[in-house]
Amino acid sequence: MSTDTRQIDQAVFTNSFVEELRGEIAADNRPRQVPGCCYSQVAPTPVRDPHLLAWSEELAAFLGLAKPSERGPAVDVLAGNLVTDSMKPFAARYGGHQFGSWAGQLGDGRAISLGEIAAVDGSSWEIQLKGAGRTPYSRRADGRAVLRSSLREFLCSEAMHYLGVPTTRALSLVGTGDTVIRDMFYDGNYQQEKGAVVARVAPTFIRFGNFEIMAASAEIDNLRALADYTIRHHYPELGEPSNEVYVQWFNEVCRRTAVMIAHWMTVGFVHGVMNTDNMSILGLTIDYGPYGWLEPYDPNWTPNTTDFGYRRYAFGQQPQIALWNLAMLAGALSALVSDAEEELRKGLEVYRSTLSNTFHERMLRKLGLTALAGEEDSALIEDLHRSLADSEMDMTLFFRHLSHAAPALAANSENEELLIRGLIEAASYSVSKMDRHDSLLQWLPRYAQRLRKESVGIESIREGMLSVNPKYVLRNYLAQRAIEAADSGDLSYLQTLMKVLKTPYAEQPEQEEFAGKRPDWARDKPGCATLSCSS
Ligand code: AMP
Ligand code: MG
Repeated sequence: MSTDTRQIDQAVFTNSFVEELRGEIAADNRPRQVPGCCYSQVAPTPVRDPHLLAWSEELAAFLGLAKPSERGPAVDVLAGNLVTDSMKPFAARYGGHQFGSWAGQLGDGRAISLGEIAAVDGSSWEIQLKGAGRTPYSRRADGRAVLRSSLREFLCSEAMHYLGVPTTRALSLVGTGDTVIRDMFYDGNYQQEKGAVVARVAPTFIRFGNFEIMAASAEIDNLRALADYTIRHHYPELGEPSNEVYVQWFNEVCRRTAVMIAHWMTVGFVHGVMNTDNMSILGLTIDYGPYGWLEPYDPNWTPNTTDFGYRRYAFGQQPQIALWNLAMLAGALSALVSDAEEELRKGLEVYRSTLSNTFHERMLRKLGLTALAGEEDSALIEDLHRSLADSEMDMTLFFRHLSHAAPALAANSENEELLIRGLIEAASYSVSKMDRHDSLLQWLPRYAQRLRKESVGIESIREGMLSVNPKYVLRNYLAQRAIEAADSGDLSYLQTLMKVLKTPYAEQPEQEEFAGKRPDWARDKPGCATLSCSS
């Protein structure tokens, strides 16, 4: 069988993480501290009736994998029921700062990596099963994931990829045939839910927390080995690890993290639980849990019920939190670097400047502007954010409609007022409250004037804007609809949604229903507006 049609049960796995780093072969999966180890080798726990629910065609093609049928050995692999000869499954040991406090050892409590496979271009990709059963890091939990949260992770990782946001990927969603007991809002209301396993894919799932646990446990050998492994495999362009290379590497982690955050802030994505154990060392969006998409533009919004008190991880906090997380990583890496404080502080500066430049560039592109008006543009962007919040604008709809309206706005048209009214009607959640729109009403004519300064033709400005302002994002209520349908055995909504989200910048006139404002019923509905951690 040729490599481009192999099923995953026939794929050859390599196991660099296990072979190059120190770990243990776990005698069992009882929860415990695992000092001295970067991982525990542990097998997934089989499930009752693994069946394929969803599959990422393009990712699979890139990995040279053929689509499996609903049941069979490939799906058994994707559920953790079949471990083939070349795999050395493991759970990684990591720690983390959760909600600002050091939480000690966490680790992969329900994720088990099978190893890496080679994609068609020869690059290496780790395959990790989330919800594959208990590991030594499961603490008091069951090692499982429910269909609802697995489907959310599956859909959103792929949607983010197609939007162009750095992210881990998802290959498959498999139903387990088992039920999982969950108290969705930690209020004593336990329910039986369907279980599922997502096969996630990334070059590596190493997090800031993998380094933090080594530093916190004074395991400097492991810390160095992990840093060297990360650099050799994932930052080879930096050269052989050395004092200087560690510093450059940290700079690069800071740069990539800044680019990721600039993306989040310009598409309206709220991660929801940016603990340091949920920060990828590659600057990828990782661990999709209680995430959400801004509907009314509100910097203080978070979907995460656990965070309703402090709103530490609300939309507008994300830039600051990533910086704080990078500072925690710097603290962990300081044992490897001489003059660490001074040297690693430079990385935090790289973060600040990259974030500010990337964010500014991306905002200009969203507005169809080139960098010709310096300070004036910065003020225009800043004031826009205030106007969007006042007007309760749907972020996605606003920019999409603005793109379409740009030619008319720039034309100095007599219909300006009508255009502005149309924009408010299409995108605001408080259409009838005219006093809310004062600042937007002042902003739009300023923007129109600024557009007229551009030397590029207005049609190409419009096209440029449409190529960076998505029409389709994974609105919270769309994910919830897909969940409800899938839960009752209907996968067609999920399939249509996946298809729509593959070309988020295309018009797709037949799919208007996925591009509308959030309906009223979804405003406060659990699963749409509110989500909890670790379900
Ligand atoms: P999260 O909030 O999903 O990032 O998870 C934080 C920590 O809790 C990680 O160490 C997870 O592996 C662990 N965890 C979350 N849910 C479960 C579960 N159902 N079973 C075992 N460990 C879990
Ligand atoms: Mg996590």
